[in-house]
Amino acid sequence: MIELPKLPYKRDALEPHISQKTIDYHYGQHHAGYVKNLNNLIEGSPFENMNLEAIIKKSEGSIFNNAAQVWNHTFYWNCISPEENIMPQAVLLKNIERDFGSYDDFKQLFIKQAATFFGSGWLWLVCDKNGKLSLLQTSNADTPIARDEFTPLLTCDVWEHAYYLDQQNQRLAYLNEFWQIINWRFVEKRLSEV
Ligand code: MN
Repeated sequence: MIELPKLPYKRDALEPHISQKTIDYHYGQHHAGYVKNLNNLIEGSPFENMNLEAIIKKSEGSIFNNAAQVWNHTFYWNCISPEENIMPQAVLLKNIERDFGSYDDFKQLFIKQAATFFGSGWLWLVCDKNGKLSLLQTSNADTPIARDEFTPLLTCDVWEHAYYLDQQNQRLAYLNEFWQIINWRFVEKRLSEV
């Protein structure tokens, strides 16, 4: 049985950047729906008693799609927080400057790739085995967790359901709000665990 993790803040805590209405649907309906679908699909199957990451690595089709979406959304909620405009520091900032030129170059590239990514999916800041940072786009439910090549540090959900209630089709407006509430302390913690 896979559980829906508790949201790390109140549903209205990200306003005005992300509305409670969006959280009600995105967390309360979409994320919860993936958990419910997954539990229905794995009941009585060899996946029934595996943990979420094991299911992602070993499954395909509907089980993979729902399991990966459960993991990706939990990670996404942790990548943002009610605290506004915090900045990456220390090793993370140094590595961003080393691999992207500067913080501003990195921000520009991240927003450009997220804005121009065709269709539904996720944009990730990932770290490879040598510590090099890069951006990675995955379509639909796909996730770096499915392979062992990269450790995800940060993700942005670019499915329309992440922003349609607040910004309709204006993905760039959503990305500008998202950027202001990135939880860089969480990203730094991920990097320190690589
Ligand atoms: Mn989503």
